[in-house]
Amino acid sequence: MLTVSNLVSRYGRIEALRGVSLTVGAGELVALVGANGAGKTTLLRCVSGVQSIAAGTIRFAGEDITRMAPPERVRAGIAQAPEGRQVFAPMSVEDNLTLGAYSRPGREMAGSLSEVYDLFPMLRERRRQKAAALSGGQQQMLALGRALMSRPKLMLLDEPSLGLAPLVVEEIFRVVRRLKDAGMTVLMVEQNARAALALADRAYVLETGAVTIEGPGRALLNNEDVQRAYLGM
Ligand code: ATP
Repeated sequence: MLTVSNLVSRYGRIEALRGVSLTVGAGELVALVGANGAGKTTLLRCVSGVQSIAAGTIRFAGEDITRMAPPERVRAGIAQAPEGRQVFAPMSVEDNLTLGAYSRPGREMAGSLSEVYDLFPMLRERRRQKAAALSGGQQQMLALGRALMSRPKLMLLDEPSLGLAPLVVEEIFRVVRRLKDAGMTVLMVEQNARAALALADRAYVLETGAVTIEGPGRALLNNEDVQRAYLGM
């Protein structure tokens, strides 16, 4: 579904991605792990279209989207749940969700809302509350729900567990697994390498802007280099 080839991206003179290639097949959950500053967020931003690409190509569902504008990518079926949740705090839960569907016909709104509320009953209960009143974990659910409102074919998840308490992290990973079980295609960036590799079909390790190791999630969990560098073993 997604093919990234030899991607290069820069911030001024800093080369954040130095020729990254990866693929995500339909229905796959692929994890991207690596240290701070390795380029994981930059890669997701290149896929959603908000980061400029110096070289390389991105193909999605058979189409070259390298130069496509971000709103068109949303319409084509790519949704991103950004790092740090970034919900609209003064707006209600339901208005946050509604915004996630801006690219779709209004008549489909009710159906999408009820799907998201079925996935996150907590959001239905709190639909009239301000997003600011939600806990960190609930805001993360809201950010996921908002991304789902565009009915994506591919979900980009940036650090869904960032800054959350361990029990809440478990809940978030359960939700990600439910999405996967429902057939969603997911590319997930995660600092929590152990949990991400346990969940992922396949994974890539990114180091200073380049892929160094790739393979099935379980195989990477047992890889000695990965264990030493990312699993504290
Ligand atoms: P983190 O987990 O800390 O978010 P990451 O793997 O997602 O790390 P990126 O955020 O993609 O890494 O950063 C890759 C490189 O690009 C780093 O060297 C970082 O310092 C640099 N960088 C990121 N954003 C900017 C920016 N807005 N301006 C300049 N340099 C940046």
